[in-house]
Parts: sequence; C-alpha cells; structure tokens
Amino acid sequence: MPHAHILAFMEKGSKFPTADDIDKIISAEIPDKTVDPDLYVIVGDCMMHGPCGAAKKDNVCMVNGKCSKMFPKPLNIRTSIDANGFPAYMRRIDGRFIEKNGIRLDNGFVVPYNRDLMLRYRAHMNVEWCVQTRAPHVVWEATWEYLTDDILYKKRRETGRPDMNLTIEQIKNIALNEIENYLLSNGRSLKKWPHMPKPENFGDYNGNRLIDDELNYVVEDQLKENERLMAMITDEQRGVYEQILDAVLNDSGGVFFLYGYGGTGKTFVYRALSSAIRSKGLIVLNTASSGIAALLLERGRTAHSRFGIPIDADEFSTCRKLSQDQIMQN
Ligand SMILES: [Zn+2]
Repeated sequence: MPHAHILAFMEKGSKFPTADDIDKIISAEIPDKTVDPDLYVIVGDCMMHGPCGAAKKDNVCMVNGKCSKMFPKPLNIRTSIDANGFPAYMRRIDGRFIEKNGIRLDNGFVVPYNRDLMLRYRAHMNVEWCVQTRAPHVVWEATWEYLTDDILYKKRRETGRPDMNLTIEQIKNIALNEIENYLLSNGRSLKKWPHMPKPENFGDYNGNRLIDDELNYVVEDQLKENERLMAMITDEQRGVYEQILDAVLNDSGGVFFLYGYGGTGKTFVYRALSSAIRSKGLIVLNTASSGIAALLLERGRTAHSRFGIPIDADEFSTCRKLSQDQIMQN
C-alpha cells in the first residue's frame, strides 16, 4: 500500500484562516450515522486512533506507557487557533462513539480528516492544518508527530521485533536522518536551515550522495534480473536492446527514441537495459515525465526532480544546476 506524507503550502491569501475556514477543510469528529452513513463507516474503519492508553497498553503508539500521538485529544466546543497559530479542532461532547476491540472511542480519538478525500479514497488519510510560517524548524516542531507516525512500526517490522521500543528522541533522530537523506539526494541539506534540528552524527558523511544512491545496488541481483528478462525478450526488443547497449558500452553515445503503443514492452526494454548496465557496476538514471511512469522503473525519478526542471516551464526557464561539488565529482 503506497504511503505518503505531504506538506502543502498555501497561497498567500489563504495563510491566515479563521476557525470557519479550517472547519470547511478539516474535521475531527465522528460523523452522524443517520445523516452521513457512508462517511460514518469510513471514518469508523480508517480514522479512529487506538484503543491505546490504559485500555491497550501494547498498542503501537505506546511509548514509555504513554500514547506518543497524544490521544485522546482534548474535547472542544469549537475549532480555535492559539497565539502561535496552532489549531485545536472542534471535538464536541456529542455522545457519539465508535467501538473498536470492545472499547468505545469518542471524538477525542478521531484522526483529523477531510470529508471529500475520505469519500473519494476510502483510506486512512490524515489531514492537518499546519502552522502559519515558512520557517522549516517551526513546521518541523508542529508536524514531527505526523511525519514520524509510522517509524516505530517500520523499525519493528524491519528488525522482526514487535516489542521493540524507541524513545521520542530516537524516533525524531531517525526522521531527521531520513529527511537529510532525501535532501542530499536532491543536492541539498539541512545545513541550509541553521535553526532546524540536525540528526545525530550529522556531517560525518563525506561522499557524493547522488553517486552513492545510484550505485547502491547488488551487482549479482542485477545480473540475475538481466538473465530473467533476457529469457523473455522478443526479437524486436532484442534488436533495440543490443543497439542501445552497444552505444553505451562502446561509449559512442546517441539519442534513441523508442516508440510504441501502451503494452508493447517499452518499460520491459528499459528494465532489461538498466539491469544490463548496472550489472557492470555503472550508473543508469531512469527518468520519466510523470511520477506514475517513474514508479514503473527501478530507482525511477521524474525528469523534473532529477534534473531540476521547473514544473511551470517557460522560454526563460533553466534547469537547476547541481552543486559545484557534485558536478566536479560527476
Ligand atoms: Zn495512542
């Protein structure tokens, strides 16, 4: 199941919302069963936190005997925004509850959601109003809980230790490391923002992350993948494959345009070529014009992300250059 954390920055005019503005977008209450039966079912299935706390001390959210997500949230008659711009959502005492594992959960356990997104995607989708600032450290302070909500779960699965526990500091450190890795892969770093907290061991790394990322595969696996694909390749595909591979391995260069309708095996050819070249310990940059197409290719990225092409390109647009260090090493 795909999983994403998305921070959307609003246009200037939408930055200082009233409580009413927030209520139009975000809800943190159990819907009315009779008025909104469909939404009631989805919220009940996907958006109720817990049970945790005294009712279920071993729930994934429990860290040192406390819910790390601070559920249940305080109940409020209406949505309000505090002096720092943090919203407290309306969570009324209305007698509604959802029963999970025999425990009745009230509005204090609703993970904030957007009605339209819930009805459209029918999946767990937490929507939160962020704080009114562009300062990354303030955004981090306001959102780290949400950004880190799956870290303990992932670590438990990775290590095969379902009872593993991490402190809040360790969880934050892992998240900051992940953020730093994403930034480094895009030629940036947390160093750019002096007020942002930094992960431990920050700055120990002296390589070129772009190159390391691209070489971070097992050559034998690439060989096996190549053998597997070559056993299925058609004669026509093989013709294309050999011609392009020849241009790469003999360093003769070239631009090739592979044309075909959907389902004719273009992606198959890209995969066969990628595995052939990577099995020789070389770098392949797979890019596609859309994120969906990029997902079909191993380590695929959008051309916009890989080469820093602006999304709204005009005749004056140029690509964002990689940093001087990275160019030197490339
Ligand atoms: Zn909890």
